[in-house]
Amino acid sequence: MRIGIMGGGQLARMMALAGHPLGLEFVFIDPAPDACARSLGEHKVIDWSAADLVSQLAGCDRVTFDFENVPAQSLETLAAHFDVRPSPKALEISQDRLAEKELCASLGIPVAPFQSVDSRPDLMAAMDGLGLPALLKTRRLGYDGKGQYRLVQAEDLEPAWQRLGEQALILEGWVDFDHECALTAVRDANGTVLFYPLTHTLHREGILRFALSGSPANVPWQKDAQEVVTQLMERLDYVGCLTVEFFVTAEGLVVNELAPRVHNSAHWTIEGAVCSQFENHLRALTDLPLGATRARGCALMINFIGQMPIKDMLALDGLSWHDYGKQARAGRKVGHATWLLDDFESLKDRVGELVAYLDPIDAQGLTGLIKAAG
Ligand code: AMP
Repeated sequence: MRIGIMGGGQLARMMALAGHPLGLEFVFIDPAPDACARSLGEHKVIDWSAADLVSQLAGCDRVTFDFENVPAQSLETLAAHFDVRPSPKALEISQDRLAEKELCASLGIPVAPFQSVDSRPDLMAAMDGLGLPALLKTRRLGYDGKGQYRLVQAEDLEPAWQRLGEQALILEGWVDFDHECALTAVRDANGTVLFYPLTHTLHREGILRFALSGSPANVPWQKDAQEVVTQLMERLDYVGCLTVEFFVTAEGLVVNELAPRVHNSAHWTIEGAVCSQFENHLRALTDLPLGATRARGCALMINFIGQMPIKDMLALDGLSWHDYGKQARAGRKVGHATWLLDDFESLKDRVGELVAYLDPIDAQGLTGLIKAAG
């Protein structure tokens, strides 16, 4: 079978790496000539809204996407010719923070308090209504903490408006969370849903740094998270992998974001689960039986941001390396490593070995994460 992927980044690359053993072939649509999936299939260097998308993807049995900012209109057009999974509707909702929050609210799923902001007076009213601190976010095209402004005092209104005011916005009340976690699930076309264990996540400057499976702190939240994800998948008649990011608060789980695709917080599943998120996404797309989602141990994923480090941490027993082959650039995800251990206690005992390879801020972050995890 031939799979068309809108996007040729690292997620498309890891999908292709998982798909080749299943005998799948890939076509990537990505205007970047150096898209990092390019060596793993046919790369069409065209825009996502190119007029000839349908003919460029001719021969594909399924179409999917590896990032959220694919124009929803392009996916709608493709859906008239191909089996697009997940559906354009799921993509469209996740492209708009307001629509995403309204969907959750309509299902009774807790989200941060929010108000839509289209003008200065709207912003003033929202700040009054939600209180400070609060986060002003662009409704669309924001990712990894981009397109956000933290408002702490009334005087922040003007600089925030200057920075973001040209776009449709949403103001979110500040969520006082204990930690963050994410649940990845996969649903097939018959409605069967399998869940990975919750991932404990830690962000720095809005970008994911560490993802930990097997965190004891998350065990009590697994069932609640599964209920939320099941509701969303059923409402969207979803096929493929979906990740929902949560804040864990004293009152329970609060949904932060939906990602209708394979997701960075579940990269640990490549080595740390029986069947990875990438393979399961493809199995769901191609109507194969889903693979087991149980963990093989306790896995810690470390994101490499900006540039790849030297490979000295490969000396750690159980550590796997993923270099996406991307050019170094500040704030860019260029690779990751996953350290697989038997259980959380082993990680706790040995974390100092990894900390020795990290910069002081990440070292501190990881130490805090392990402490928070149990
Ligand atoms: P986002 O791009 O919306 O996922 O935001 C990136 C990160 O900013 C999240 O993972 C949180 O660490 C933090 N964040 C986002 N929204 C809120 C909020 N309403 N309250 C507190 N922290 C937030």
